[in-house]
Amino acid sequence: MRDHFDVVVVGAGAAGIAALRRLTAAGVDAVALEARDRVGGRAHTITTAAGFPVDCGAGWVHSADENPLAGPIAAAGFTLDRSPPHWMKQAFNRDFSEAEQRAYRAAFNALDERLTAAAKTGVDRPASDFFEPNGRWNPLLDAFSSYYNGAEFEAVSVLDYAAYEDSGVNWRVREGYGAAVASFAALDHVITGCPVTTIHHDGAELTLDTGKGRITARAVIVCVPTPALAKGGLTFSPGLPDKAQAAAGLPLGLADKVFIGLDAPDDLPLEGHLFGHKDRTATASYHLRPFGRPYIEAFLGGACARDLEAAGAGAMADFCLQELGELLGSDVGRRLHVLGETHWAADPWALGSYSHALPGHMGDRAVLAAPVEDRIFFAGEATHATFYSTVHGAWPSGERAADEVLAALA
Ligand SMILES: Cc1cc2nc3c(=O)[nH]c(=O)nc-3n(C[C@H](O)[C@H](O)[C@H](O)COP(=O)(O)OP(=O)(O)OC[C@H]3O[C@@H](n4cnc5c(N)ncnc54)[C@H](O)[C@@H]3O)c2cc1C
Repeated sequence: MRDHFDVVVVGAGAAGIAALRRLTAAGVDAVALEARDRVGGRAHTITTAAGFPVDCGAGWVHSADENPLAGPIAAAGFTLDRSPPHWMKQAFNRDFSEAEQRAYRAAFNALDERLTAAAKTGVDRPASDFFEPNGRWNPLLDAFSSYYNGAEFEAVSVLDYAAYEDSGVNWRVREGYGAAVASFAALDHVITGCPVTTIHHDGAELTLDTGKGRITARAVIVCVPTPALAKGGLTFSPGLPDKAQAAAGLPLGLADKVFIGLDAPDDLPLEGHLFGHKDRTATASYHLRPFGRPYIEAFLGGACARDLEAAGAGAMADFCLQELGELLGSDVGRRLHVLGETHWAADPWALGSYSHALPGHMGDRAVLAAPVEDRIFFAGEATHATFYSTVHGAWPSGERAADEVLAALA
């Protein structure tokens, strides 16, 4: 490996891939150092034993009509599926009558209006402060928060929650969103299996300690998830306490998936949806037969996912099999078999799923995004003010940081 590059990008997830593309297109001598043996980070598609692809991380092309990746994904030959999302309706109204679903949606909309109004006051508080006291649907609303934010509303800043922009259009990629993101990486300029541990910025040049030796650079773009900065996986010398504190204010919530194969699937609706339980927060959301494939994709978040991950391999799958068995009966239960489960909290290069701002910490996104000494730049989903927590937030953040580097080098 060469020991000097003009620009080093640390981390080759969506943000790092976007930054590297922009730099190499501008003819800059740049490299991305990636800790894992693959690119894509939290956008990661695998092929199951059943032979079809599944997204372990990002799966939805959110705000698809405004998403800067939608066009390139289609142009690269991937198949965009534009059918509406599954999560609006309970299949068979199972254990959740039409009237109850209407009441839940009304409670959801009312909470959303209170959160929007609260954000206009400019005072930051936990989003849970705006639950209806003893509201019938609060547990399920918190389950929604555990999927959407990766954390229950109590840990979510109302200002940051309201700042997220969503066009409401959600598409998917048949071959996998992760596969599409990874396909955009300029692999000739990526070194995998190369974690960066320290960035020294006390000399004329930056010096990086990496798993493959020391490298010097004129500028770096740091694209790692916030826990690496908050917990010391990646450090600076001298230290950058503002960055560590900002990263701590933007922890990664947790979302995990379980992929469950389904024999003789025809009695379950294509692209159907089920909540495991309507009365509690510790429950999964089930996507039935995505793309018409013979499986169910379970989505778990927040404390429920954290506790089940901590309980060891298989605990999450057992939880889902039990919920599905109770909902669909033992006949369907006998036809289910586990294809896999994710463990994003235990993944050392992620330590979670997507960022949310703790109450009082909305401003941390701008603090994290700010350059240091005009040679240390920061990108990643957590640095985006309005599309945080997503691939389409990570991507433009990488492009923004690359533009900052180009201006600094010029
Ligand atoms: C279960 C789940 C579901 C999701 N669903 C969606 C969805 O439907 N739609 C959506 O848009 N988003 C979704 N997301 C979020 C989305 O995946 C992320 O927001 C986005 O991929 C983050 O990109 P990033 O580049 O900021 O970070 P990452 O993808 O985490 O990239 C950071 C890279 O840095 C590397 N790294 C870490 N530490 C070091 C180090 N010390 N040295 C070198 N490299 C290092 C990592 O290995 C990683 O490759 C989901 C995520 C999860 C986990």
